Amino acid sequence: MKRDYYEILGVSRTATIEEIKKAYRKLALKYHPDRNPGDNEAEEKFKEAAEAYEVLKDQERRRLYDMYGHQGLNENGFSGFSQTEDIFSAFNDLFEDFFGFSPGRTRSRSNAGPKRGADLRYDLTITFMEAALGAEKEIEIQRLEKCKKCSGTGAKPGNQVITCPTCNGRGQVIRSEGFFQVSATCPNCNGHGTIFTEPCPSCQGKGRTPQYRKVKIKIPAGVDTGARLRLKNEGEAGIRGGQRGDLFIVIHVEPHEYFYRKGNDICCEVEISAIQACLGDTIEVPTLEGSEQIKIPEGTQPDAIFRLKGKGFPDLRGFSPGDQLIKIKMVIPRDLTHRQKELLHEFLEIEKEKKKDGFFKKILRKVEFTKG
Ligand SMILES: [Zn+2]
Ligand SMILES: [Zn+2]
Repeated sequence: MKRDYYEILGVSRTATIEEIKKAYRKLALKYHPDRNPGDNEAEEKFKEAAEAYEVLKDQERRRLYDMYGHQGLNENGFSGFSQTEDIFSAFNDLFEDFFGFSPGRTRSRSNAGPKRGADLRYDLTITFMEAALGAEKEIEIQRLEKCKKCSGTGAKPGNQVITCPTCNGRGQVIRSEGFFQVSATCPNCNGHGTIFTEPCPSCQGKGRTPQYRKVKIKIPAGVDTGARLRLKNEGEAGIRGGQRGDLFIVIHVEPHEYFYRKGNDICCEVEISAIQACLGDTIEVPTLEGSEQIKIPEGTQPDAIFRLKGKGFPDLRGFSPGDQLIKIKMVIPRDLTHRQKELLHEFLEIEKEKKKDGFFKKILRKVEFTKG
C-alpha cells in the first residue's frame, strides 16, 4: 500500500508549490543516500519523497492524484520511478528550481549511463545525371565502433570489470560545497560507474576505436546540391550501450556540360542556323534519357524556347516532374559555297523588293491613321 504523497512530504493538501519544494528539499537532503550509506530505510524514504515531489510539483499530475489517488496516476501512465536516474533528476530539478541551474544534470546526464553516438556528416559529390536519375553509391567512412578487443567494456581482456565502489555504479558523487551539496562526476570511474585495473590496449579503455566502414547510399532521383540525406544509425557507436548516431549525407551536384537546372526544369541551349530558323526543321536535342527530335517551325526567332513536358527532374515530394526547356541559339552560317551565296543573293533581291512594298504600305497606313 502506497503512502499518501502529502503525508510523505508532511504538507497540507492545499500546500503551495513553494511549500512542497521546501518540504521535499529538506527530506531529500536528510535522506540522501550519500549521507546515509548503507541505510536502506533512508534510501526508501529518499525515493518516496522524490516520487511524491515529482507528482505534486506537476499541476496535471497533482490534479489526477487529488481526484483519483495513486490509481489515477497509474492509469495515466505515471508509475513512479523505476530508475535511479529519475530520482536524481527530481533531485537536480530541485537545485535548478532553487538556484537557477542544475549542478548534477549537465554533468551526470552527459557522463553516466548510456550515451548516444555522435552524428556524422559526409559530403558526397555526384554527377548531374546521378542527381537526375538517382543512383546507388557506396562510400567508406571512418567512425568510432565498439572496440572488438574488449567488446566495448574498455577493460583489458581477462581483466575483471567491477562496479565502482566510490559511486556504487551511479557515475556521480554528491559533494558538499559550503552549505549545499552538489552532484559531480565520480572521479574514480570518470562517470562510467564501472572500473577495471588495466585498460584495453586496443582502445586505451575508451571502449571504441576508429574503424573504416562501407556504407551503401541510395540517392533518390531529383536531389539537388545542399540536399541532406539522413541514414539512421549509421553514425558513431554509442557508449555504454547507447544508441548509434546518424549519418548525414550532404549532396553536391557537379555541373553538366550542356544542361543546367532551374527548379525542377532542366535547361539547355541548341544552336540552329538562321536558314533552319527561316524554313523550319526537325532537330535532335539531348535529353536526360538520350535524345529526342523536336520540330522547329518556320520563322523561329532567336532565343525562342521550346518545352518538352515532363522531361525535367523528378520531384522529390512526389509532385509532377519538371520540363526540359530548349532555348534556340541562332548562328549565322559562314564558309558558304559559291552556289549557296548565289542563291542567297537571289533571295536578298526578292527580299529588297518585298521591303520596298512593305515600306510604302507602312507609310500609307500611318497617313490613314493620322487622318482618321
Ligand atoms: Zn564511480
Ligand atoms: Zn577495447
